[in-house]
Amino acid sequence: MTAEKKKRIVKTIKIDVDKCNGCRACEVICSAFHAEPKYSSNNPARARIRVVREPYSDIYVPVYAGDYAPAECAGRDKYTIDGKEYDECSFCRASCPSREDFKEPDSGLPLKCDMCEGEEEPLCVKWCITDALVLEEREEEVTEEEEQEELEVGLESLADRYGLDKLVDALTRISKKE
Ligand code: SF4
Ligand code: SF4
Repeated sequence: MTAEKKKRIVKTIKIDVDKCNGCRACEVICSAFHAEPKYSSNNPARARIRVVREPYSDIYVPVYAGDYAPAECAGRDKYTIDGKEYDECSFCRASCPSREDFKEPDSGLPLKCDMCEGEEEPLCVKWCITDALVLEEREEEVTEEEEQEELEVGLESLADRYGLDKLVDALTRISKKE
């Protein structure tokens, strides 16, 4: 018997680096939205997006926090843009043990973009006045088992890395925010 599939909406944010002016409004609103209580502070270290900035070359690259990686990767990327060489991992989206990016400053727990769950439109998209960030949506089919598996893999790797107690504390804090 084939498992019944249900439809889900997959959201992506299209980034046009040529339009980004490095204002960092996206970082500010993201961190304010995820502050506790909501909008009580705006520390960009809590943002799920960060802008790699090179003002002298007028280069600004927004990078979204993606999935948590439990181990450092063996192979890394090195980018050169307009003659400027960037550090390894500069444009990586993962929260991983080899750097401090995309980690909650107080707890060290990994940060991941949640598309501003509950909001009609991601707030970074809304606040980006240059339209460097544009929301796109598409429909995808998935079984309940696949969805459950994705959730369990994510939770297991977080529990391995941070311990169950820390994970439960973080989930409790998040649920209180909603
Ligand atoms: S708000 Fe838009 S223009 Fe400003 S830094 Fe973010 S992506 Fe760039
Ligand atoms: S979509 Fe929301 S959670 Fe994701 S980076 Fe933008 S403001 Fe932050």
